[in-house]
Amino acid sequence: MAQETIFSKIIRREIPADILYQDDLVTAFRDVNPQAPTHILIIPNRIIPTVNDVTEEDEPALGRLFTVAAKLAADEGIDENGYRLIVNCNRDGGQEVYHLHMHLLGGRRLGPMLVRRD
Ligand code: AMP
Repeated sequence: MAQETIFSKIIRREIPADILYQDDLVTAFRDVNPQAPTHILIIPNRIIPTVNDVTEEDEPALGRLFTVAAKLAADEGIDENGYRLIVNCNRDGGQEVYHLHMHLLGGRRLGPMLVRRD
């Protein structure tokens, strides 16, 4: 059984979060520390710690992340101008919370995908 993070408490509505969407497979809520005018996290309800832990069984939930991202981008009015979807994995990917999540970022020009720092 994978270890719970703060995101499990958000899914169960045990701690406050600005939840925008929830169904049997995924939950979406605003990031507490937004990096853009729209910054939403979309997560599978089942705990998948990292992309490395994904199995075929997870494909319906992982597909749902994208349909919900598209719906929320339209709701936020950023679909035409565009947005960025990010999934970080482990230390080098900058992952902080070990419950797989997709970042939906938009509402401004996001600039280059990566700032070179090597
Ligand atoms: P990552 O670095 O990809 O693991 O991203 C984790 C994200 O979770 C960060 O953008 C945090 O700001 C966000 N975060 C952490 N705790 C919360 C919370 N309680 N509610 C909403 N977002 C959170």
